[in-house]
Amino acid sequence: MIMVTGGAGYIGSHVCLALLDAGFDVVVVDNLSNSKRTSLDRVQAICGKSLSFRPIDLRDEEAICKTLRDFGVTAVLHLAGLKAIGESNENPLGYYDNNFVGTLRLVSAMKNASVKKLIFSSSATVYGDPAYLPIDESHSLAPTNPYGRTKYFIEEMLRDLHRSDNDWTIAILRYFNPVGAHESGLLGEDPSGIPNNLLPLVAQVALGKRERLVILGNDYPTLDGTGIRDFIHVVDVASGHLSALKHLNDSGIMTVNLGTGTGTSVLQIVQTFESVSGSPVPHTIGERRIGDVAACYADPTLAADLLEWKSTKSLTQMCADHWRWQLNNPNGYHQPSHPSDEPDAPA
Ligand code: NAD
Repeated sequence: MIMVTGGAGYIGSHVCLALLDAGFDVVVVDNLSNSKRTSLDRVQAICGKSLSFRPIDLRDEEAICKTLRDFGVTAVLHLAGLKAIGESNENPLGYYDNNFVGTLRLVSAMKNASVKKLIFSSSATVYGDPAYLPIDESHSLAPTNPYGRTKYFIEEMLRDLHRSDNDWTIAILRYFNPVGAHESGLLGEDPSGIPNNLLPLVAQVALGKRERLVILGNDYPTLDGTGIRDFIHVVDVASGHLSALKHLNDSGIMTVNLGTGTGTSVLQIVQTFESVSGSPVPHTIGERRIGDVAACYADPTLAADLLEWKSTKSLTQMCADHWRWQLNNPNGYHQPSHPSDEPDAPA
């Protein structure tokens, strides 16, 4: 039995589906602070298998410990966390409490329940400004915002934990930029309010929910002046977790990038999305956002060596799948039933 924290969320729901498809039993722990239970109903509908759900906060150590014991959990895939960089600048203590204290409580519960296998969702944000590209796992760590620092401190805590007790097997997965959706069009990213990430914004503009996309800077030293990121299909990220689970016992603790190794510019995303959707994505150029770097993409060699994992899905697939999700679910998982439930007015 595998516990997935944050399993109702964007990446977590795809991870749950991959686990069920591979024959694992799954119990999801999620406080639904940034997700809806509908995502889990859909996971079960897609694969025709059932999972268990416990609406528990990570910081409720007793309830987590009881769940680990009750379900006979053998490994935890820990995706729960808050992830908005801007919000973390405004509310750093909330982020340290939720992400860092939450993980501390989770691993304490795991220790009490003698469950010592853990896969943790970290982020490329821990690297900060790239000193060189592509970024490999030995690149220096200098996160530039509280969100990234919560990930960095959690990583350090997990390394200390492993040093203190070699029975722990831990995989730290540093995701680059997960995008896209499940090909069924039933699972995808459902941001509340104005999306923080590029693809949901582009999709909402293509759908006409928002008037235009503001590209934050076109004077970076890149091929077309816009920022470059390593976009990776969420289904590839999910399959990376299966590979990590399979290879968890190979080394005591491992830290691995999950990226494609290819940088894509914001304008390339816009153009690909336009051609896949057949809808224009009107855009204007705005100021650079403080803290954004010109380019960031992964060296995924270690993942291939240690996990026998490589991303498989193209940029066109990422955009096509995201578009299908957006078209089929213009309000995400939310079904408006009365006026106050209506989605945001176009920006
Ligand atoms: P998400 O917000 O869709 O999912 C996170 C889930 O965790 C949500 O369902 C939320 O309700 C739950 N959660 C948050 N705090 C909790 C708590 N204290 N107790 C129980 N549940 C809690 O986000 P996502 O995009 O699926 O990201 C999953 C993980 O991957 C996060 O840890 C995030 O930091 C990390 N990550 C995401 C990205 C990205 O671009 N999406 C990139 C790098 C790393």
